[in-house]
Amino acid sequence: MNACEELNKYIFTLPIIDTHEHLPSMEEVRDRDTDVLKEYLSHYYNRDLISAGLPTRDYQTIIEKKIPILEKWNLVEPYWQVSRYTGYGRCLDIAVRDLYGISEICGKTIERLNEGFLKTLNPGHFRRVLKERCRIEKSLLCVETLEEEYDPLIERSIHCDRELFVPVYIVNPLIHPESWTDIERIERESGIRITSFSRWLEAVEANVNRAVQEGSSILKNSLAYVRSLHYERATRAEAEEGFNRVFDTKYFPVWHQRPIITSKAFQDYMFHFILDIANEKQLVLQIHTGIQEGNGNHLANSNPEALTNLFIRYPDVEFDIFHIGYPYEHVLTVLAKNFPNVTIDMCWSHIVSPNASVQALIEWVDTVPLNKISAFGGDLLFVDGVYGHQYLARQDVAKALAQKIDEGLFDIEKAGKIANMLLYDNPKRIFRL
Ligand SMILES: [Zn+2]
Repeated sequence: MNACEELNKYIFTLPIIDTHEHLPSMEEVRDRDTDVLKEYLSHYYNRDLISAGLPTRDYQTIIEKKIPILEKWNLVEPYWQVSRYTGYGRCLDIAVRDLYGISEICGKTIERLNEGFLKTLNPGHFRRVLKERCRIEKSLLCVETLEEEYDPLIERSIHCDRELFVPVYIVNPLIHPESWTDIERIERESGIRITSFSRWLEAVEANVNRAVQEGSSILKNSLAYVRSLHYERATRAEAEEGFNRVFDTKYFPVWHQRPIITSKAFQDYMFHFILDIANEKQLVLQIHTGIQEGNGNHLANSNPEALTNLFIRYPDVEFDIFHIGYPYEHVLTVLAKNFPNVTIDMCWSHIVSPNASVQALIEWVDTVPLNKISAFGGDLLFVDGVYGHQYLARQDVAKALAQKIDEGLFDIEKAGKIANMLLYDNPKRIFRL
């Protein structure tokens, strides 16, 4: 066995702290009206298929219709074959190989795979995959399903399966509320009737405090999907002026959409307001940067460089920067190198680009202190994908460190210790678990 193989073998025995998931908050609430393609194509790989030419109406058929699994397969097959070597595609093939004993997803195996998959809808699959197969001690969980109008997000987070998950509190609706439904949820959660900008600020503060009290001292902002990461310093007067427009649609009947468009000044003010609380309480803030899930967005909105003013202004907030900022991972390298309050989070990155993840790790060994990198976060809606992703992550860490062994920078024993830091010790410390 050469050094790389030996290291690889060792890394596959290590426990993991998983920095980011979107899984159902408990196995019991998992969607059971499903099949393997509906679940596996709920996000990520469906985007590669659509990018490759899968018509969106055929995709809708896969998600919405109850038709034989082979008929669904025939719709995706040509696009699957040209996409299967992407990180998203590899993640699925690895999962079915190791969880179902099926060498690859294809026309010959799809029915057998679906039968095996349907059996996993019985209780116990989450624990088996996450604990036994992935060796994940805890996953940080984002609960942000918005369809149930009157189900407060805080309640859902608190009631997640605490043996598997640590809840993360999403601050998006406090910065960028999108409708009166959001405002009314915040009213209910805080118990404060929102009649003015002052009451709104009280409600926001009460919600952040309550999330922290309930054990969710990690906040998350993923608004780079809908606006720039550049949060300028706005005045209270500008924010209040923006807020007053919220009431423009309050009288719309409830069966009508009651949308809200908040001004940038309002959003900027609100994020600074939350960061001020986070700074005082020394909280961790996870921020989405880089590639946006979906089939087309303004990539430039997500460049982590735009966050620099926040790193400077709030030195007691730990900024955990998601997705290696891909494709801005070199920008993130410099930010993490220079700022004591910036850490690198590789969640999602090993399936977005296995190669970029390996190359970035090689570069960070040369540039960034090793205690500032967390090497795995699944960022998945379905549990089988977490298995495939952690497999790729372990492999990427092994590849990068093996190159450094070859260069003579350290020996295999040291490489093993570094791998343990990246996968376990660092996230455990950064997220105070
Ligand atoms: Zn995510």
